Amino acid sequence: MKTMFLMWSVAIMFAAVSFAAGADRVPAVPGGDSIGAFSERVKERKDMVETQLHGSERTSITDDAVLRAMLRVPRHAFVPEANRAFAYDDGPVPIGYGQTISQPYIVALMTQALELKPGMKVLEIGTGSGYQAALLAEITPEVFTMEIIRPLYEAATERLDKLGYKTVRTLAGDGYIGWPEFAPFDRIIVTCAALHVPFPLFEQLKPGGKIVIPVGGAFETQRLLLVTKDESGGRTSKTLTLVRFVPLVRSTP
Ligand code: SAH
Repeated sequence: MKTMFLMWSVAIMFAAVSFAAGADRVPAVPGGDSIGAFSERVKERKDMVETQLHGSERTSITDDAVLRAMLRVPRHAFVPEANRAFAYDDGPVPIGYGQTISQPYIVALMTQALELKPGMKVLEIGTGSGYQAALLAEITPEVFTMEIIRPLYEAATERLDKLGYKTVRTLAGDGYIGWPEFAPFDRIIVTCAALHVPFPLFEQLKPGGKIVIPVGGAFETQRLLLVTKDESGGRTSKTLTLVRFVPLVRSTP
């Protein structure tokens, strides 16, 4: 009897300890920590921000909100197991289906160019792994993202949810036509290269809104454009840098 009691006490103690340990990791919203990824590889993220983004020889990334997001989002949790070792390298990382997450510097440059503010509504074309969407969600809860490759859409939707990015809305489909149901958007970011700025996307932009988009042919050097819609609906565009993105496609095989 006494032994039974002892066993029960030990069991209850264990339960209490593991509950407390679990409680410690309960998510701060947004960006919950259900798989502990946020507390992993923090040093590598710091190094990435310091050496690749901040005060780099390229145009430096100076927007605090962008730097904070890059520091916080666990990039390694967005790439396949086999490529996790390279997650914080200064280059793109394959995510399957012939697609890649862009180099951290390009991701930061595009996010900074958006001048995204809390409360703004942003549409991303090319969800891929969901990494860029998570960064956007660190700045505003109003994130909408579209992906044409269904398995990538499914994996990213599940990943974003698991990591606590509950406000991000994902859609499987052709981003060329945008997401009229939720238009107009303050900002649009396209993470695949188009031959021109898709007309429906420009139409779904608010006056005063901005689009960041790589424009050019598949697998050749493209121009990363910042397109602004003025109050009367006119367009101005500026080339930020030269880039190489996977192409925007209108259908999948
Ligand atoms: N932003 C992503 C990486 C994008 S890679 C990330 O953070 O991981 C470019 C993505 O654009 C690919 O996943 C590709 O399937 C997708 N894509 C290509 N054409 C598309 C289209 N018409 N509509 C939506 N997504 C498209």
